[in-house]
Amino acid sequence: MTERQILVAANWKMNGTLETIRPLLQSVIQGVQGTKSEVVICPSSVYISELATLLQQSEIKLGAQNVSQLEKGAYTGEVSALMLKDFGCGYVIVGHSERRALYAENDVMVAKKFMAVQKNGMTPILCVGELLEERESNCTEEVIARQLDVVIELAGIAAFENAVIAYEPVWAIGTGKTATPEQAEEVHEFIRLRLARHDNEVADIVRILYGGSVNAGNAEQLFEMANIDGGLIGGASLVAEDFLTICRAMR
Ligand code: PEP
Repeated sequence: MTERQILVAANWKMNGTLETIRPLLQSVIQGVQGTKSEVVICPSSVYISELATLLQQSEIKLGAQNVSQLEKGAYTGEVSALMLKDFGCGYVIVGHSERRALYAENDVMVAKKFMAVQKNGMTPILCVGELLEERESNCTEEVIARQLDVVIELAGIAAFENAVIAYEPVWAIGTGKTATPEQAEEVHEFIRLRLARHDNEVADIVRILYGGSVNAGNAEQLFEMANIDGGLIGGASLVAEDFLTICRAMR
């Protein structure tokens, strides 16, 4: 089995101002020195340029929270993959549940965003996850399979050699209700097996992050699970000490 390096990605969402993100980032830059995990920070797109400068001497990678699936043109307010690449982004979150729910992003759009990111040499972090009612009606696997299969079909299984998947049960995002390590592991294993139907090697190397109310107190137990390769962190990534504790949580 491949040894997969833990990846911890911060999703700052629409939070912060220059006044607050500068000291937050400074603390994180200093605190992550010597950590074995790979660390990515995804600020709001207006701060990408600022972070690109501040992260120049750091191991921390820069990411974005969203991207247009289109290349360029008259799409007011959109940000293209090429623009993100231009500012040194290495990762881009696609299909976050907030975008699926609030901005009507469907599986095909998400797959197109995934491909746009890869076409520009960056790594997509593909979010998948079920709603509470879907879990309660035992549809979790069906939902995850559908979300994954569209991307596999459009982008091809080989595309997952350079992709990260984030399992984020929607009921756990921003709610303080974390999936138990066992609940999360069950879905992570399902995701890996779903990829393995197409290619065992790809399934073995792809990193699958857990997201949904990860905090300084539960990260270690989650990251101990065999198929959990790190986390996508919302709220806790805005507090330097909490985020650093998560970055230090190892298998
Ligand atoms: C997220 O938005 O991806 C997330 C996991 O948020 P939180 O950690 O706040 O639940």
